Amino acid sequence: MTPAREALERLQAWSRRFASGVRNRDTLKSRARLDDLVGGQTPFAVILGCSDSRVPVEIIFDQDLGDLFVIRVAGNIVAPSQIGSVEFAAERFDTRLVVVLGHSRCGAVLATLEDLQRSTRSDSRNQRSIVERISPSVAELLETELKHDPGALLHHAVRANVRASVNQLRHGSEILEQLIESQGLLVVGAEYSLETGVVDFFDGMPEAG
Ligand SMILES: [Zn+2]
Repeated sequence: MTPAREALERLQAWSRRFASGVRNRDTLKSRARLDDLVGGQTPFAVILGCSDSRVPVEIIFDQDLGDLFVIRVAGNIVAPSQIGSVEFAAERFDTRLVVVLGHSRCGAVLATLEDLQRSTRSDSRNQRSIVERISPSVAELLETELKHDPGALLHHAVRANVRASVNQLRHGSEILEQLIESQGLLVVGAEYSLETGVVDFFDGMPEAG
């Protein structure tokens, strides 16, 4: 089992490699790993990310087959199936690090802001189920001066949405609460920048040395 802090340092280090243009992923090496992984997996981190095509998790963290247990859904929201997926990885594979990964210019968060401002609204109940999970964490930003600055508003809303998902994972499941309390499970938020390729981990997480 990879301890949470060690897993976090690995992600931080390898995301910096990606951002600086160094890549280790190699299709031939991945092909060779198939045999090792047939019998089972031991992913060292769970990543809950957005479906956005510009944020492919294994690529931006420069990881290979079997390394990351990835859940992707528009807006990196937390619904019961996302919590269940995290529980599954934490229980079955002893994965001890969970990262909620938002990203700049997130279309799902932008759609939510537009919905709250009544400028556009989807008629699809399915799409609304995503917007409604993002709304509570970003609605209060519209009560501030940020509402006059669309760029800053979206920036803050993306981060507020990540923090809300982190809180839901930390407190929305008895299984995860117990793992956090007694087994060293760590749930952290992060934001990927489409502009720079850099991942910013929240809450003053330690940088790898
Ligand atoms: Zn997105």
